[in-house]
Formats: sequence, C-alpha cells, structure tokens
Amino acid sequence: MNKILNFQAELINKIQLTDSILQFEYKVPSELVFTPGQFIGIRAIPTHTRAYSIVSLENNILTLIVDVRPGGIASQYFEKVQVGEQTNILGPYGIFKVKDTDLPKVFVSTGSGIAPFIPMIKEVVKTRPQIQIYNFFGSKDIKTDIAYSFLENILSDKCKYVNCISQEDISTLSQKNLHQEIKQGRVTTVIPTYNFDWQNTEFYICGSSEMINDTKEVLTNLGVDKIYVEKY
Ligand SMILES: Cc1cc2nc3c(=O)[nH]c(=O)nc-3n(C[C@H](O)[C@H](O)[C@H](O)COP(=O)(O)OP(=O)(O)OC[C@H]3O[C@@H](n4cnc5c(N)ncnc54)[C@H](O)[C@@H]3O)c2cc1C
Repeated sequence: MNKILNFQAELINKIQLTDSILQFEYKVPSELVFTPGQFIGIRAIPTHTRAYSIVSLENNILTLIVDVRPGGIASQYFEKVQVGEQTNILGPYGIFKVKDTDLPKVFVSTGSGIAPFIPMIKEVVKTRPQIQIYNFFGSKDIKTDIAYSFLENILSDKCKYVNCISQEDISTLSQKNLHQEIKQGRVTTVIPTYNFDWQNTEFYICGSSEMINDTKEVLTNLGVDKIYVEKY
C-alpha cells in the first residue's frame, strides 16, 4: 500500500497535445510513490477535488494528461493554470492495476484514457518481457493520437501498438515503427478483426462510460470474460 500524501506542488510544464488535451508536469515530494494504474486527486478549488491517472513519476516530476472537454470546475482550472503556480495534490489512490498473471494483455483506450496504461504497459514490458501486449488507441485522425509518443521507445514484437483511426483515410498514412499497425475504424470494429485467444486474454479498458460500455459489449460477444475497466 503506497502512503497517501497531501502536498502543494508547483506546475513546471503545461503542453497542449490536441485542441482539448493537455499534459501537465508537477514538481512533487520524493516521498510520493505509486503503483502503475493509480491516480491522484487535484484540488482544483478548495471544495472540489478531481481524479487524474498518473502517467509517470520520474525524478520527482509527476505527469498527467487531461482532457478539458468536460468543461467543469477542474477543466476550467486546467485551462487557466499557469506554470509556476502551486496546487494541492492528494494521493496516490486506487486499486486499478495490471493482473499478476502471464496471460496476454490488451489495453484499449481513447483520449486521456491512455493515461493509466502508459505506466502499466511500461511495467509489464520491464518486469515480464515475455508477455504479449497489444495497445489499441482510438482517435479520429493520426494527429490526435496522443499516446504513441509515450510508448514508441518500448514497442517490440511483444508490445504492439494499434492505431484505430475513425475519420481520416488511412491509405495516406505510414507506419513510424515496425511494431505499429494503423487500422481504419473505431476500437470496437478493429479489435474483432484480431485473432486473440479471447478467453485467455486480459482486456483493460479506460475512458468515458460510453466507450467502455461499447467495448465491453463487443468483447463479451467475442467470449471475453477477463475485462478490467477504469471509468472516467
Ligand atoms: C479514477 C479516475 C481517473 C481519472 N483520470 C483522468 C485522467 O487521467 N485524465 C482526464 O482527463 N480525466 C480523468 N478523469 C476524469 C476527471 O476526474 C474529471 O471527472 C474530469 O476532468 C471532469 O472534471 P470537471 O471538474 O471539469 O467536470 P465536472 O465538474 O466533474 O463535470 C463533469 C461534466 O458534468 C457537467 N456537470 C457538472 N455539474 C453539473 C450539474 N449540476 N448539472 C449538469 N451537468 C453538470 C459538466 O458540465 C461536465 O460536462 C478520471 C476520473 C476517474 C474517476
């Protein structure tokens, strides 16, 4: 169990990844440790705290990926906050983590739903390199694929990356990596075209309720029963 801390952190970097998704980097105390899949609470205003999955925690720098489209209190905070400002952070929290098994693992996300999977995938690659991993990331076009750059350095035969592109014509796109596959369609139409051993593969899904429900339905119809979700 990681110790839950309550601390002030300085925002040291704010990067616009797409029209609505931003990356935030905070300088945090060295006592903060997390298990891949966990999240922290950002106290956007004194009365409101929102959850954000930890993308990475390296050299006392905590990275988050935030979609500001919901437009609520935290979204407004993230849009306005400036580098140099202090924010109250609590955590880490959560029990969403990679199962301790040797089964193949498939990760499915769209938008900021990739956040918990970045450290989870890195952990499996590092600790169990023999396990087959697939990461399916859905975006309307290749330029809104915010996930690839976080994972490109660890792709291999055992760790594949599948872009599911729903709106752009993929015939004009080219792979950047031998272990990347670019497919036309949403995650829900692309995944069934793969030949997984459905009953002996774990599926991890993260994102909006709608995306999770649609994906779960497709997977259940394929006979999958090992489905683990983090709902935003
Ligand atoms: C475990 C976990 C991890 C998460 N990790 C991430 C992450 O890594 N990245 C990420 O982008 N998000 C993540 N989320 C989602 C995040 O916590 C917030 O829910 C999200 O950022 C929206 O917060 P908000 O304050 O902007 O909107 P909220 O104020 O929570 O509002 C959400 C929506 O409801 C509407 N709304 C609010 N109040 C009302 C009302 N009274 N009547 C009608 N409509 C209303 C708002 O307009 C908005 O559309 C995570 C969620 C969970 C549970």
